[in-house]
Amino acid sequence: MADPKLSDARVLVITGAGISAESGIATFRGPGGYWRKMDPAKLATEAAFRSDPALVWEWYRERREQIRGACPNAAHIAVVELAATAGDFLLVTQNVDDLHLRAKWNGRALAPELCVQIHGDIFVTRCSRCDYRTTKRLHADDAASVPVCPRCEIALRPGVVWFGESLPPNEVQRVEAFLDGGRADVTIVIGTTALFGYIVEWAVRGRRAGGELVEINPEETPLSPHATRAIRGAAAAALPGLVAEWSHSGLGSSPSRHSVGG
Ligand code: NAD
Ligand code: ZN
Repeated sequence: MADPKLSDARVLVITGAGISAESGIATFRGPGGYWRKMDPAKLATEAAFRSDPALVWEWYRERREQIRGACPNAAHIAVVELAATAGDFLLVTQNVDDLHLRAKWNGRALAPELCVQIHGDIFVTRCSRCDYRTTKRLHADDAASVPVCPRCEIALRPGVVWFGESLPPNEVQRVEAFLDGGRADVTIVIGTTALFGYIVEWAVRGRRAGGELVEINPEETPLSPHATRAIRGAAAAALPGLVAEWSHSGLGSSPSRHSVGG
């Protein structure tokens, strides 16, 4: 049987903070993850925001600034190449940065309909009571203050999903629709600790009935036992070569079927 061509394949990519690490954006659990000796897993919560909105906003302000100054790396660009080359494609990112959307391959950017930001967008500021939301650069981005809803006069919050909050139903629906649309020939999971059950579930569902499941991460994760191929390296070093290999020689060329990572 001929190797399936990338242009005929359905490809699901799932990314986490690790893909942006080489752009200089710290992961939560890696080096530099702590902010002023505080654990991001405690800061990125509704409870932290309620008890000290100014502190939480200061953290988000610094992160927005860091992301504005960062550039997409070779892995973000390779994801755009995959999206442009694959027959059917969806990116599900846990990242709240905009590097996937700013990356360009051959002058093309990722179409927004091919990207689900399942944990929201750090550049959105929204109200938790009414439907007010804005992506405008706010006064709060430049000064130590808490932005306030123009309608409700309560503190606005960053448009991200905090630990313990539910996922945005519309975005979940987009992932489900892709998974219901058939098997993913290739599922690639990049730079996530895969600690959220739904990430593992989506990745495993993607690969059902014989699809490939490639994990790119320097470390093992709860997903590793399910992977048909594990690349224990940095995303920017590993992904471009993999995409080049698939676009030149088709999917069957990968040694993955023989070297099961674990
Ligand atoms: P995480 O911080 O828990 O884990 C990062 C993972 O990336 C680890 O498994 C690590 O081994 C791996 N990694 C580190 N460097 C890598 C590299 N160069 N190439 C490939 N992999 C590498 O991140 P998470 O699993 O995404 O979960 C944390 C939560 O924090 C998510 O909800 C995410 O939205 C949020 N977060 C987002 C950003 C961002 O938007 N850039 C940054 C930090 C945290
Ligand atoms: Zn409001």
